[in-house]
Amino acid sequence: MQPGVKGTTKVFAVLGHPIGHTLSPVMYNAAFRELKMNSIYVALDVEKDRLEEAVKGIKALGMQGGNVTIPLKEAIIPYLDGITEEARLIGAVNTFYWKEGEKLWGDNTDGAGFLAAGRKAEPQLLREKSAVILGAGGAARAVAVALARAGMGELTLVNRNLEKAVTLAEQLEKLGAKVYVRSWPKGEAVKRAATEEKPTGRSETGADLEELVKRSGLVVNTTPLGMAPHEEACPPLDLALLHPGQLVVDLIYRPKETLFLRQAKARGCRVMNGLPMLLEQGVLSFQRWAGTDAPVEAMWKELERWV
Ligand code: NAP
Repeated sequence: MQPGVKGTTKVFAVLGHPIGHTLSPVMYNAAFRELKMNSIYVALDVEKDRLEEAVKGIKALGMQGGNVTIPLKEAIIPYLDGITEEARLIGAVNTFYWKEGEKLWGDNTDGAGFLAAGRKAEPQLLREKSAVILGAGGAARAVAVALARAGMGELTLVNRNLEKAVTLAEQLEKLGAKVYVRSWPKGEAVKRAATEEKPTGRSETGADLEELVKRSGLVVNTTPLGMAPHEEACPPLDLALLHPGQLVVDLIYRPKETLFLRQAKARGCRVMNGLPMLLEQGVLSFQRWAGTDAPVEAMWKELERWV
C-alpha cells in the first residue's frame, strides 16, 4: 500500500481480467511517490459482463481515472462519455480520465507510446518508408494506426486470420498508407477475390513477403509468440530476411529478450523489447488523468525492477 493513505487520497485504477500480472500499479505508484502525490493506484479484476457496472462505480465513487487492459479495451467504449480521435481510429481505449470535470473520456496511448519509444531508440524512425507488422490484433491496430498517422507510407500486415488483417488494412488505407496483407506462415498475398468482396478492399498484392521484409526499416512483432511461459515460440517469419539497418521490435517484455529478438540481434539488427512502449504509453496516460508530467526515470526504474 502507498504509505500515508488517508481520507483525502485520490484513487486511480487499472481494470482488466485477469489482472494479477499487470505492472501498472508498480509503475504509477512509483510516480506518485516520486512526485509526493497524495494518490494511490490499484488493480481491479473486472469481467466483461460487469464492465458497465464497473464504469458506473468509477463515476459513483469519484475515482480519478486510470487504465483498461485486456479484454476490456474495446468493450468499455459504449460506457464512456466520449473518446478521442486516436481511440476511435484504433477502436480501443487504454486510459480513461475526467474531461471538463464531468465527462469520463477515453483515449488510446498505446500507438503514441510505441512511436515515442521507437523514436527514442531510432530518432530517424519516421524517415523509414516501410514497416512490417506481425499480427493484426489490438496492439497491431494501435501500432499501425500510429505509424500511418505519422506518415509511414507502406505497411505490411502479416497475420493468421486474414480477414482481420484485411479489415485493418482498409482502415489504414483511409489514412493514406499503402498496405500489403500476407498470411502466416507462407507469406501468401490475400487473394483478390477476398478483398473484392469488400467495397473498400484495396490491399495490395504484388510484392512477395520476402521482398517486403527486406525493404522495411522496421519490423514489429505484435503477436504473443515467445511470451513467457512459451519462451521457445517465435513468429514463423523467415528470420534470414532480417538484416543490419533494421529496427526489430517485440512488444513482449516478459522475457526481456524473446527468441525473435535474439535471432534479430544475431543478424545485426537493432532491437527493442516491449518495456519502453509500456513506459511511454504509461507516461502519456499519466499526463491525461493526473494532469501533470510523469516522472519518467522513476517509472522506468520501477518497471525494470519488476520485469
Ligand atoms: P490480441 O488482440 O489477442 O492479438 C494477438 C495477435 O497475435 C493476433 O493477430 C493473433 O492472430 C496473433 N496470434 C496469437 N497467437 C498466435 C499464434 N499461435 N500463431 C500466429 N498468430 C498468433 O492481443 P494484443 O492485445 O494485440 O497483444 C498482443 C501482444 O502485444 C501481447 O504479447 C501483449 O502483451 C503485447 N502488448 C504489449 C504492449 C506494450 O506496451 N509493450 C501493449 C499492448 C500489447 P489472429 O488474428 O490470427 O488470431
